[in-house]
Formats: sequence, C-alpha cells, structure tokens
Amino acid sequence: MENDKETLDSGHYDVVVIGGGAAGLMAAGTAAKNGSRVLLLEKMEKPARKVRITGKGRCNLTNTRDEEAFRENVRANYDFLKIAYREFTNRSTMRFFEKLGVKLVTERGDRVFPDSGKAADIANALEFNCRDYNVRIECNTRVTGIMTLGGKVYGVEYINHRGFPRREYTDNVILATGGVSYPGTGSTGDGYLFASELGHSIVNVRPSLTALVTSHPQAEYIRDVVLKNTNLKLVVDDQTIKEEFGEVTFTDRGIEGAAELRLSRDGVDALLEGKKVKLVMDLKPALDEQMLRERIRREMESMSETDTFAELVRRLAPKPLIVPICKEIDVHSKLYISKVTEKDTERLIKVLKGWVFPIDDYSPFEHAVVTAGGVDCNEVNEFTMESKKVPGLYFAGEILDIDANTGGYNLQIAFSTGHLAGMLKK
Ligand SMILES: Cc1cc2nc3c(=O)[nH]c(=O)nc-3n(C[C@H](O)[C@H](O)[C@H](O)COP(=O)(O)OP(=O)(O)OC[C@H]3O[C@@H](n4cnc5c(N)ncnc54)[C@H](O)[C@@H]3O)c2cc1C
Repeated sequence: MENDKETLDSGHYDVVVIGGGAAGLMAAGTAAKNGSRVLLLEKMEKPARKVRITGKGRCNLTNTRDEEAFRENVRANYDFLKIAYREFTNRSTMRFFEKLGVKLVTERGDRVFPDSGKAADIANALEFNCRDYNVRIECNTRVTGIMTLGGKVYGVEYINHRGFPRREYTDNVILATGGVSYPGTGSTGDGYLFASELGHSIVNVRPSLTALVTSHPQAEYIRDVVLKNTNLKLVVDDQTIKEEFGEVTFTDRGIEGAAELRLSRDGVDALLEGKKVKLVMDLKPALDEQMLRERIRREMESMSETDTFAELVRRLAPKPLIVPICKEIDVHSKLYISKVTEKDTERLIKVLKGWVFPIDDYSPFEHAVVTAGGVDCNEVNEFTMESKKVPGLYFAGEILDIDANTGGYNLQIAFSTGHLAGMLKK
C-alpha cells in the first residue's frame, strides 16, 4: 500500500522480518549478526512451528550430497537459487547448527538430522541465535500490509498481540511468510497477497510432495500397509513420465510414501492440466517377467495339491495384499493350487509387475509438505534476494517460486535464501 505521509519517521529497526519460520529466523539472525537492528514479527504464539514437525518430528535439515545433487532435486529455478546456495551451502548449514551446539547425524540417503532426533532442537537453535544477536521477536503479531512511499519500502502494518493495529517504520522488509501448505503452522499465504499488492507476479501456487488420490476399489483394503522396495511409475496420458524406487503406503489421504512423494509434483501438474494420470506399482522390481514366471513355477512345484492360491500369493507379496491381489485378478483365494491355470498365473504376474492405480485427485495444501509456485523469481535479484520492483523489499524461503524433493533440500532452500536476504546493506 502506498503511503501518503510526506516526511519519513525514523524507525527503530533497520530491518523488519515478516515470518519466523526457517527462512525468517535465518534472515533475522544473519542481519542482526551483521549489525542491523532487527524486528521479527510472527503471527503464531511461537516461532518455527513448521520446523518442529519436519521430518516426522526429527527435522531432516539438509543433505550432504554435492551441488549437482542439490540442483537435480530442486524442481524450479535452480539457476536463480544457486547464488544463494553457494553463499550458504549444506556445509554452511551443518556448521551453523553445530556451532550452536546441535550435534548432527547423517543417515540413509545422506540426509542430515539432529542427533537427538528432535526437530525442536533445530527450531530452538534458530531462535536462540536470533536472541543472541538481540533480534526482537514479537509473536502473536500478524502483519497486515507492507507500506511504501515513492515506490520504496516504508514500513509494515500489523495487529499486535493485544489485537491493536500498529505500524513500524523501516526501510527494509524481509518477507518470509512461507507457502500455503500445513496452514495450521501459520503458513496461510499472506505474503503472496502483500507481494502481489506491490506489483509482484505469483506463479501458479499448488501442492507438492502430497498424496495422490485413487478411487481404485482395492486401495482401501491395502490401507496402512507399508510396501518397501517398490518401483512406482507415473504414467501420464499413457506415457511413463518418471519412475521412483522405495516405499509406497496407502493411507486415508491416498497413495503416499517416499517413492510416491517424489512423483507427486508431476502428478499434480498433470492433473491440473486435465491429463489422465496413473500410478503403476511393480512389487517385484528385482525380477523381470520371465524370472517371476520361473519363480512361480518353482513355488507351485514345491506346494502340495491342497495348498491354495492364497499361499502362492503369500510367498510373493506381503500378507495384507493376498485378498486385494486375488480380488484384482479375480482368482478365488481358496482355489487349490492343482486347479490354478496358466491364465491365473499370468494375471498374477501382470498385477505383481504392474498394478495400475488410476489417479483422480491429489491431497490438498492441508496435507502437502511444500507449496510449488510462489513469487516469480524473475522479479527478484538473485544476488541479494531484493525485489526488482520495490527497493527495500526482500524475499526468503518457500514464498519464492522454488521447491524441491524430499531429502532436506526444502529447508536448505529456506536457510540459503534466508541467509542471503539477511546479508542486506542497511
Ligand atoms: C509436515 C512437514 C514436514 C517437512 N519435513 C521437511 C524435512 O524434513 N526437510 C525439509 O527440508 N523440509 C521439510 N518440510 C518443508 C519445510 O518445512 C519448509 O519448506 C520450510 O519450513 C519453509 O520455511 P519458510 O520459513 O519459508 O516458511 P514457514 O516455515 O512456512 O514459515 C513462515 C512463517 O511466517 C509466519 N507468517 C505467515 N504469515 C504471517 C503474517 N501475516 N504475519 C506474521 N507472520 C506470518 C508463519 O506463521 C510461519 O511461522 C516439511 C514440511 C512439512 C509441512
């Protein structure tokens, strides 16, 4: 909002940071360390609510793989991000937390966690770092707008913890309000509104790392079974777009698990474009069809005549899948093995190697790990994170049109962009 005030009041703070998530806390701490007087406004009752639930409460804060792997896992605007990343890499993130006394461990997939297994240690370290450098943190304080004068940042308007409207005058604002996923943590997309009011374009915002919903009749019978070592294909308009190996789970939200999450962003985009989407599950990725045929023959030879088809399925797939598989291929589970035909075994091979789940929908923002889309990076200076449209306005974190796969990359984006935004010249 453009302010009509003629003379500028001198503010108490060099920088006001809006949003006390991973990016905002990193930005505030960095700016304060560099000598700025910093005020951080957070609308929830305490900062970093989202950080506290990351990594299933354990916080996968970054990944030790090299920059090439980081580039491959970032799904949008890596070229924009790379300056921020090189300024503050995965190693910088690890050093930052270790210096704050948080011991770290690297686990499978080169993912880094606090050794304590507690995400709260990361949230607290970010907050303590800010307080160490005298950042003033005001919680229960909701920013309602960014004021400009003559096209430049002039201050912010907010509702304070007592419910009164207030203003804070400042020349620099770092907007770090996150995306719109898990809105219960405070990320409700307010920043998109402020940015667009100031002339910024917002690239189509949609859920990423989210469950894909199937209406397949067997899905509900497989619920809560964790299928490990599964190969999952994303098929769009009858063409395989991508495949991933790992865990697949059927939950009340749809199909989830590490392998599915890595496919979900492309699945969501295809659904939004009105395309036909399927997930095809290979439960026996180590065997090709011929090897599986041989294996089934050997299993059947070793079974007695009175064994049933269910026993054969049990030898090839997790127990909870016996009934759904039998239903899927329309073979009675109690059929004696001596009565099983070649047609039956061929159907079994087909479902084990390529069980097709049509996808009708995706789980909404409430359950999506990240938000894809956001403030258009073309309108932001990649060397500073400052707006190219409004001097004094900076962006950090998930509010930007940058998102990544699981593996600690999304928090690394928040830390790298937060750090660079915090390097601003006051
Ligand atoms: C369940 C879950 C698990 C995840 N696990 C991982 C993981 O293990 N590893 C990983 O890398 N990433 C993970 N992520 C993603 C990662 O948490 C986010 O990408 C990251 O936290 C984004 O940080 P941010 O600071 O940009 O935004 P947020 O964390 O969303 O912070 C924004 C802050 O701004 C505040 N705010 C919003 N509007 C206003 C306003 N008007 N006034 C004042 N304050 C405002 C909000 O209350 C919030 O505190 C996970 C996400 C979820 C939901």
